Amino acid sequence: MSEPRPLFPADPKATYLAHAGAINAAIARVLAGGHYILGPEVEAFEREWAAYLGDGYAVGVANGTEALELALRAVGVAAGDRVATVANTVSATAAAIQQIGAEPVFVEIDVTTMTMSPGALAEVLTNVQPIKAVLPVHLYGRPAAMPEIMELARAHGAKVVEDCAQAHGAKIGDQRAGTWGDAAAFSFYPTKNLGALGDGGAVFATDATVADRVRSLRQYGWKPRYVSVAPGRNSRLDELQAAILRVKLPSLDAENAVRASHARRYLQRLAGGPWQLPPADERAKSVWHQFALRSPRRHAMLTHLAAHDIHAGVLYPVPLHHQPAYACEQKLPVTEQACAEVLCLPVHPGLTLADIDRGCDELLRWAEA
Ligand SMILES: *Cc1c(COP(=O)(O)O)cnc(C)c1O
Repeated sequence: MSEPRPLFPADPKATYLAHAGAINAAIARVLAGGHYILGPEVEAFEREWAAYLGDGYAVGVANGTEALELALRAVGVAAGDRVATVANTVSATAAAIQQIGAEPVFVEIDVTTMTMSPGALAEVLTNVQPIKAVLPVHLYGRPAAMPEIMELARAHGAKVVEDCAQAHGAKIGDQRAGTWGDAAAFSFYPTKNLGALGDGGAVFATDATVADRVRSLRQYGWKPRYVSVAPGRNSRLDELQAAILRVKLPSLDAENAVRASHARRYLQRLAGGPWQLPPADERAKSVWHQFALRSPRRHAMLTHLAAHDIHAGVLYPVPLHHQPAYACEQKLPVTEQACAEVLCLPVHPGLTLADIDRGCDELLRWAEA
């Protein structure tokens, strides 16, 4: 029998190879077309991505961090404003807020879903006046409690921007993540559920005025061309990435379904073990960007898995309020415990159910030892 292959948290090369013929053809088409930045491929992708999400407008930008920054600015966040977000996320979420000169205020998470707690948000909105915008993160592919968050934000006059960098295609009920707030930011970093072969991002907004502002901000604040109406930046999406994303978009739902089937297998086989499993889909339908287990014995589990060439990830080991760049006095015990306990098992669509079973076998063996 051959050695089992190593399993990783993500495999962007496998995703490329699954679409190699069509991607190579798309790249050749762009190269021959002579348009390399903000051309017909970007426009077509923006239409297709918006149609996939729901009623509204998509604007391609250079990456997910700038999508967050421009979305926040487009809904009115400016220097000195406070933005309520969570601390168990990638640094990019807070970096986008700080880029504007605004200040992140961290909100405690729900112990089960590990996304923003509506109860904690209510307290922050009441006690930390004024909060200009709320920035929930749909972590690991699971949408945050958007109906409750929207109601609270509306009641306090705060705007809402969704961080959808891990939630391409996720839903609450029948409505996609990204269509609940005043704007949403997506990343197309190669390891995301919809990934380019380089950097890319997009803002989605149901309001044409918000989308227009992003369109202006992504290119020097121009409106019309050659006249800057706001201090913009350069955050353009290029034609090659847009063409690649157009090849991959039609497979997003099928790839998310493979992730969901992997997740169901983990949930079935690992039930009752000495760890805490992520909640199964209910109202919120995850697209399983990560399958996040929790255990105070994370380190021993990681070591055992790695010895069998199964490489789990730790997303994210240090909450933002404990990182030098964002350090603050806030106490967030639920967040801190989640960051200390979480480990993410490989769940991407390049894996087979046999790979998932191998992960389950090893974890169960570790638990019995
Ligand atoms: C990936 C990610 C981002 C940043 O996206 P980039 O394209 O890397 O700038 C922001 N927020 C979350 C939750 C992410 O996972």
